[in-house]
Amino acid sequence: MVTTADTLSRKAQFPGLVTPAGDVWHYLDTAATAQKPQAVIDAMTDAMGRDYATVHRGVYSRSADMTLAYEAARRRAASFIGARSENEIVFVRGATEAINLVAQSWGGLTLKAGDRIMLSQLEHHSNIVPWQMIAQQTGAEIDVCPLTQDHRIDLDALENMLTERHRIVALAHVSNVLGSILGAKRAAKLAHAVGAKLLLDGCQAAPRMRLDMAELDCDFYVLSAHKLYGPTGVGVLWAREELLDAMPPYQGGGAMIDTVTFEKSTYAPPPQRFEAGTPMITEVIALHAAIDYTEAHDMERLFAHESALAATLRDELRAMNSVRLFGPDTSAGIVSFEMDGVHPHDLGTILDEENVAIRAGHHCAQPLMAHLGVPATARASFGLYSDETDIDALLRGIERTRRIFG
Ligand code: PMP
Repeated sequence: MVTTADTLSRKAQFPGLVTPAGDVWHYLDTAATAQKPQAVIDAMTDAMGRDYATVHRGVYSRSADMTLAYEAARRRAASFIGARSENEIVFVRGATEAINLVAQSWGGLTLKAGDRIMLSQLEHHSNIVPWQMIAQQTGAEIDVCPLTQDHRIDLDALENMLTERHRIVALAHVSNVLGSILGAKRAAKLAHAVGAKLLLDGCQAAPRMRLDMAELDCDFYVLSAHKLYGPTGVGVLWAREELLDAMPPYQGGGAMIDTVTFEKSTYAPPPQRFEAGTPMITEVIALHAAIDYTEAHDMERLFAHESALAATLRDELRAMNSVRLFGPDTSAGIVSFEMDGVHPHDLGTILDEENVAIRAGHHCAQPLMAHLGVPATARASFGLYSDETDIDALLRGIERTRRIFG
């Protein structure tokens, strides 16, 4: 059991968790982006300062060392998610770029008119729009898997809807709005039973759950470092090696080629084939530090800690008659709700005065908002530094908001 004393010492490792006036900042927007521990900030500073050089091309020792560090980060990312080989790890700008890469490269190669793409009602826009774009280009069509009553992806419905025309199923492993956890292994079985591939959007799962690609049995997995206590500007696309081998490049340029003439270029094998240009060197080094930092806390303990906080908050909110809760009771550390008669933006603004930061809006999930019948929700999301003091501050702020709005 993680105690408040544990999280207090963790909070001290995050310089961002203090306001400019030196007060505690109750940061409940980790699902949008996580605060950074000093260890990650230090790793990035060193990589930009005393260790800085380019990778893969330099003949001098600093560049050779940086290349070793960059490739060590790839091996670390592979071990973190249980990949079979570091060649299955492509460094990208973030989850959004990873999904665009799969949609354009794999989708462009595979999809034809009449093929179908299966998404779900709760997807983030970045797991919808890239598929719409490739659907328009290829003539493929999109289906939407509905949700259960308690707002989880309905795998019984998925089973009934999937056909041999479906080439890909792309689903959030954990919903960024509701914290709903996908039955990923069953989703993989269902997709594979009709010969479709499964892409999992792991943005919200990677910081909260132990991942093992072999166990999940998906085909593509994407995540963003900035939600995993690392920097912005870097993320991971994992794909089975044989899939990457068959995929054409997504972008052309330096570092992704084997030979270039004006007549013809040949491409490097994956993962380099998908890493055109000078990569995000310092960010990749900092991602390595972020994975070390996060995993040292034990992913299973983190999951239990954040799920328990979410359950506590749900119980407290349920006890307030004027609050409507969304999502299932078991959530991976993310709670969406609505206060009667108070727009989420107003709630967010009043909470800000109390040094409590929540997210208010559509959370880049407008189709989910339409399904819930609201324009926006208020969302509190936890991280490894969150504890009951953050929940108490949120509840005090909600009470104050209720008094203000009568
Ligand atoms: N999918 C989910 C579930 C997310 O939460 C997010 C970020 N909010 C994304 C995709 C997109 O991630 P990024 O903006 O880092 O590319």
